[in-house]
Amino acid sequence: MVPVVELSDIAHVYVTDREASLAVEGIQLKVEPGEFISLVGPSGCGKTTILSVIAGLLQPSKGTAYVNGKPVNGPSPEVGYMLQQDYLFPWRTIMDNALIGLELTERLNPESRGIVQSLLKEMGLGESGNLYPAQLSGGMRQRVALVRTLATDPGLLLLDEPFSALDYQTKLQLEDLIVETLKERGKTAILVTHDLSEAIAMSDRVMLLNRNPGRIHRMFNIPENIRRVQPFFARKEPGFNELFHEIWGEMQTIGKE
Ligand code: ADP
Ligand code: MG
Repeated sequence: MVPVVELSDIAHVYVTDREASLAVEGIQLKVEPGEFISLVGPSGCGKTTILSVIAGLLQPSKGTAYVNGKPVNGPSPEVGYMLQQDYLFPWRTIMDNALIGLELTERLNPESRGIVQSLLKEMGLGESGNLYPAQLSGGMRQRVALVRTLATDPGLLLLDEPFSALDYQTKLQLEDLIVETLKERGKTAILVTHDLSEAIAMSDRVMLLNRNPGRIHRMFNIPENIRRVQPFFARKEPGFNELFHEIWGEMQTIGKE
């Protein structure tokens, strides 16, 4: 099977007028169809840089990224990107915010509009289509952002700390909703998070990066019993705490390097 994402020896140097700094180096990764991968590691280790390369927003200094077997050379409708801040347009209604990707790709028609309407309903936002972002809670706005990302039906979703601005309860609810929604639709996902327990609870594999420059420190496979259940219940599964402490311990050694 062709991997959904393949990163082949990616390195990136950011050049500013004052300096050139090596952000990531030697990044190799293959993500299989339907897999959910998390990237964790200290701030500045290159997680967002890696997502930007996959999204086609950043041309790496070295190496090649492939999505569905084709080299990435710019943003593509096959890839959806969801960020920490929801970036909804305050002057557009929820419905019009959710439709924006379809508008931009000239795929807005009665059928696609109907699909977005039912997605909103599925996310508990069926009654909110005519409201404006300011009238919604943070958790509702992130659900709108999820609908907007799914509206164009990308096979791959890149999620950059989508829960970090939310309260704990809302975050747990959204974790379950996202995992369920993506699994049902057979989507592949890469999540960046600074919350290790979230990474373990949601993922099939967790990639730990170290910094200066960002390199892959270790890849952890999540055991079947933890993967099988919803993130909320995953935290109660046998082996969860042991795995948490194992990865946590590795993260502490990175901090000291
Ligand atoms: P993370 O998402 O893991 O916190 P980033 O990918 O944002 O890390 O950043 C990795 C490194 O690259 C950091 O040292 C950061 O300061 C640097 N960096 C990120 N973006 C830029 C940029 N646009 N210009 C210069 N340096 C950058
Ligand atoms: Mg980041």
